[in-house]
Amino acid sequence: MVADDIADAAAVAAEPQTMGTHSSSSASPTDANPGAPRIARVAIDTPADDCFDYLAASPDGALAAPGELVVVPFGRRSAVGVVVALTDVSDVPEDRIRPIAARVDWLPPLAPTWIALARFAAGYYQRRLGEVMLPALPPSLREPDTWARLGDRARMVRYRLRPGAADALRAALPARAKTVVALAEALIARDARDWMPLPVARTHCSAAPARLAEWEAAGWVEASRDIGPLLDVAPDRPPSARPALHAEQEAAVAAIGQATGYAPFLLHGVTGSGKTEVYLHAMEAVLAADSAAQVLMLVPEINLTPQLQARVAARFPALPLAVLHSGLADQERSLQWLAAHTGEARIVLGTRMAIMASAPNLRLIVVDEEHDTSYKQQEGLRYSARDLAVWRAKQLAIPVVLGSATPSMETWWRAEQGAYRKLVLRERAQADAALPTVRLIDLNMERQRQRPMYEGLSQPLLEAIDARLARGEQSLLFLNRRGYAPVLACDSCGWLSGCPRCSAYLVLHRPERRLRCHHCGLESPVPHHCPDCGNVDIAPLGRGTQRIEEALAARFPQARVARIDADSTRRKGSAQAMFDGVHAGEVDILVGTQMVAKGHDFQRVTLVGIVHPDAAMFSHDFRAAEHLFASLMQVSGRAGRAGLAGEVLIQTRYPDAPALQALARHDYDGFAASQLRERRQSCLPPFAYQVLLTAEHRELEHSLAFLRAARDAAIGCAGAEEVQLHDPVPMSMVRVYNKERAQMLVEAGSRPLLQRFVAGWLPLLDDVGDAGRGVRWQLEIDPLRI
Ligand code: ADP
Ligand code: ZN
Ligand code: ZN
Repeated sequence: MVADDIADAAAVAAEPQTMGTHSSSSASPTDANPGAPRIARVAIDTPADDCFDYLAASPDGALAAPGELVVVPFGRRSAVGVVVALTDVSDVPEDRIRPIAARVDWLPPLAPTWIALARFAAGYYQRRLGEVMLPALPPSLREPDTWARLGDRARMVRYRLRPGAADALRAALPARAKTVVALAEALIARDARDWMPLPVARTHCSAAPARLAEWEAAGWVEASRDIGPLLDVAPDRPPSARPALHAEQEAAVAAIGQATGYAPFLLHGVTGSGKTEVYLHAMEAVLAADSAAQVLMLVPEINLTPQLQARVAARFPALPLAVLHSGLADQERSLQWLAAHTGEARIVLGTRMAIMASAPNLRLIVVDEEHDTSYKQQEGLRYSARDLAVWRAKQLAIPVVLGSATPSMETWWRAEQGAYRKLVLRERAQADAALPTVRLIDLNMERQRQRPMYEGLSQPLLEAIDARLARGEQSLLFLNRRGYAPVLACDSCGWLSGCPRCSAYLVLHRPERRLRCHHCGLESPVPHHCPDCGNVDIAPLGRGTQRIEEALAARFPQARVARIDADSTRRKGSAQAMFDGVHAGEVDILVGTQMVAKGHDFQRVTLVGIVHPDAAMFSHDFRAAEHLFASLMQVSGRAGRAGLAGEVLIQTRYPDAPALQALARHDYDGFAASQLRERRQSCLPPFAYQVLLTAEHRELEHSLAFLRAARDAAIGCAGAEEVQLHDPVPMSMVRVYNKERAQMLVEAGSRPLLQRFVAGWLPLLDDVGDAGRGVRWQLEIDPLRI
């Protein structure tokens, strides 16, 4: 079995498909005849085709260049596109080729390597080039209406008087237009070397853009459209202290620093072992070696970026740092993107979307918590940012560092095979911080001993919390289920609060007095009696974070209890405020979902209680154990980080479960080995490659019929005999928002084989006859959840 990763899929996947009468998108920039390039191939965000041909000469007389953003007529509307190449041949008859409508002349073109990255992603994930490129651009650049404003904000357009033009300009002024005169005089008053930014011009005259354009055309003023500095730096601030690296960190930094060309690393170290410190040192070396070098650092979650951002900024106060995530306002995100694109930003820090950032001098990529599922985009282009990071590193011949305490099986297997170089940090970095002890609380045994639970909390856990309260330490209770109770039930007739639109229950949110479906968003008031039999004894069944919070407050009235989950942090900034409160010691017991598990370095938390991990053990998904292990390891890592001994208590009815046993021993390696053994026996990833076709329709039968037709269509496709097409099956949660969903898994022993098959199969899916009517379908490459 070869350990091929996405980077090896390039050969097959990079070959895009063409369709219809539009241009063949297989033209690369080298196809263009530099003597007479008149036709621009433009990628547009549409599933119709990769590229469309236009006359490259734009109304301003200039020729559009590859990598430029343009507005083009598209059918009856206009669209923003990216010029992918210039050429002088087209399949479209010349008299039917329309001209480009406008170009963003101030934006430096996207680099050929960026276009290649988009082309690869489009080929690999089976999307049109424009469907990859345009969503990868910041929102303000996708809208021609906002181009000008963005240009102003970036201080890009500046004007100055041409030497000796003052008299001509004055003579041309309309005497009564006072503000225009004021603008002209302000320009004249400035020294001819002094540029006036457009926003300043606007303060003199609201019609400044139009006037200045006229004067520019007349030759009286000249314009500079260079992009000015976008990011603030603090060159006078000293960098934060760098701890002296311990030996394993030293070795890791050295290995990364000595790498030449493409060099993938797996940095494996428990939480708190000093991985971030290794990233920072490796980045420092790269940034110091070349004054233009850029580094890209990916992190999983938005709520992690402020902390990490502060840490990175403090270490490199003199270097421009751009931050990219979906929580930023449009204009801000666009400016940050621009700073990366122009090369001004030396460090680009962001969530998965940042992997598609344009960064012309990229020299190092870091992917923190590489196993995290949020690196996989779950809609639209369903890409894996981690996988694309590896591809991009290979394309650019640079190092990429994948860091994790619990690497994904895919990455681990590649490291085991030697395809990635493994760097290990065995101990926690701070001298006084040891790994927490992990204890499994066997709930069956608790019952046998007749030690009753209190609202889902066992005696040992309650005692442990008590002890923390007595010592003034903090406890963290983890329960990955928000709301008060997952379902409301009638004792007498068996009614359950089902969602009428989904095969799921409405979750009771007690403080808000609502029932809510977490899948379709349906909300209703809490009924006072059973809707079926009228019984007034309807009761919440099971527990969510709200109920645990309430129970803790009742049980420990002296304690300050806080809850952090998606409900308690809806207001912007409230999550940060709550985390600040925990750090400041204003909270004794913190209850939270996944949101509290990641990244946060809680210095006074010495107890982590895992309330209910068992639900994950019955999942049909073969990755469930891997994800459970990773998330419990992560939340366990919150305990005992600063010299206080940490303890993790896991309540379970299945204390023999391998994931829990391995966790208690801190034995990732053993757990991974057993997982890989099972996966190999069952021919599952990383020993096989998968594609998931899902279909949805009001009626399940139609969804299934579509999948069966898709399966029939596969017969005769190139490579069909080398892939395995599983039977179409209903999804484990069949109905969501009145749509019934089914799926079909396709597997193969190698990525290129699977890619070749899918490339031939996909175009047939649009036309499977009656079976396809009204069915919405999606094809996901390398699906993460099955
Ligand atoms: P990780 O990213 O693996 O969770 P960090 O790099 O955040 O680990 O390090 C955990 C803690 O240990 C941080 O407070 C960090 O400042 C500290 N630390 C890291 N490396 C060292 C070192 N070599 N000596 C002392 N403290 C260190
Ligand atoms: Zn009832
Ligand atoms: Zn619903």
